[in-house]
Amino acid sequence: KIDVTRPELGAAAAAFLARPHKLLIDGQWAEARNGATIDVEDPATEEIIATIQGGDEADIDRAVAAARRAFESGPWPRTSAADRSRLLWRLADLLERHAEELAELEALDVGKPLSKARTDDIPDAISVFRYFSGAPTRLTGETIPVSSAGDFHAYTLREPVGVVGQIIPWNYPLIMASWKVAPALAAGCTIVLKPAEQTSLTALRLGELALEAGVPPGVFNVVTGLGERAGAALAAHPDVDKIAFTGSTAIGKRIVQAAIGNLKRVSLELGGKSPAIIFPDADLDHAIAGAADAIFYNQGQTCTAGSRLFAHKSIYDRVIDGVAGAAGRLTLGHGLDPRVTLGPLVSRRQHQRVAGYLESGRSEGAEVVTGGRAVGHRGYFIEPTVLARTDRTMTVVREEIFGPVVCVQSYDDEDLDAIARFANDTIYGLRASVWTRDLRVAHLMARKMKAGGIGINCHNYAEPSWPFGGFKQSGWGRELGKDALELYTETKSVAARL
Ligand code: NAD
Repeated sequence: KIDVTRPELGAAAAAFLARPHKLLIDGQWAEARNGATIDVEDPATEEIIATIQGGDEADIDRAVAAARRAFESGPWPRTSAADRSRLLWRLADLLERHAEELAELEALDVGKPLSKARTDDIPDAISVFRYFSGAPTRLTGETIPVSSAGDFHAYTLREPVGVVGQIIPWNYPLIMASWKVAPALAAGCTIVLKPAEQTSLTALRLGELALEAGVPPGVFNVVTGLGERAGAALAAHPDVDKIAFTGSTAIGKRIVQAAIGNLKRVSLELGGKSPAIIFPDADLDHAIAGAADAIFYNQGQTCTAGSRLFAHKSIYDRVIDGVAGAAGRLTLGHGLDPRVTLGPLVSRRQHQRVAGYLESGRSEGAEVVTGGRAVGHRGYFIEPTVLARTDRTMTVVREEIFGPVVCVQSYDDEDLDAIARFANDTIYGLRASVWTRDLRVAHLMARKMKAGGIGINCHNYAEPSWPFGGFKQSGWGRELGKDALELYTETKSVAARL
């Protein structure tokens, strides 16, 4: 039995929920043209906690027009790099001042434990704004050596790419917004952000705080709405210069198709089915705790989640027991309840999807070591689940589940190439972790794994300065770090005959 009584919210979060939630277009709060609204649910209780606007094509059109005006003729093109830097820092300060309110809203909206929203989600988003506040004054072109040096002077300019559409998912709403908004503002772009319809609250609060920080009208617009309406309109819009998308691989492919019309630039952060590989020489207590956290963190709704766990035959039983033990120690319940360490999944749809995978794993012959069921009579809870005796042919091993479900496989090879081939057997390539005390094994495996991010004795690592992105069908481009600025700038080459 799961206790899903919702604890009281703090005054600031309660006041935010009680306000009307509109679209941010051109510095003004506006209702969707079509009058549509979307109910926002508490995934632990299934109660409606707020209503947001269901923006569509007409609202995207207005927001893109505002972003275009702000890009071409507003105060934004004349805002100096130093001023953009100050704006980003000020926005980070405001987020920090409202950190507790934001943490409560995030925990309530996504269903995640408040303790994690406090220590991870909100501070991580703030640090991304702080990191990119240093970028505007360091974004430089180059002087280029040319063959006839006396006759020509050649150099490059780094210019903002223009009006940017950004579409984000529901698993880490404020962090995902920060990864996109901060580098785009730093580069001098203007933005239309389309948050996930399930979790738009902190993006709307970010909009309020951006205005308070002094971001000029039209520079940062937020249009809430359904993916197939507002999101699709943004991806296809002929006056959007670039689309940055984070979400599923299936929708990522549709974004690419929608972007073809005007060949807008596209960057994609998509799904994963990331391996965590434990070698027999690893510090096993540390590795087992790390592997459990790699999958159960955020209820398994993490794109980098360590959802395929590989353990050498000699330690397989101990790893299974250890991860199952860690699953058993998690406390399910309402994210706002301080005792809770595993919340509900974000939505009914996600709950049904994950329950479907559990069924498929069982029918394909996986052994359910622990968990394996939907629980509670209210809310979208799934038991943390360990599936053993899994193999590469099973749907649960091949497809991204995006829930607290780990598939464990054993290997008995000593050959690193063979182990890497085994773990690389997926269409995805977002993250891989290796757990070992042997430096040689660690760094050789880092080279052999086909993934955009490698963890050595760690898994879901992220840091504002550390580029993040995927190989293969996990995406195009890298967010965070210096690489993110590539996504939001065009290089212009200038040659002058002297
Ligand atoms: P999703 O693809 O269903 O939705 C993501 C966003 O796209 C939402 O804002 C949604 O409204 C919008 N959208 C939906 N249909 C659209 C369409 N036709 N055109 C334009 N926009 C549309 O994904 P989700 O279920 O919200 O998120 C889970 C997925 O996101 C997982 O696959 C996960 O791996 C991935 N993800 C990846 C990263 C990463 O950085 N690689 C990070 C977080 C999540």
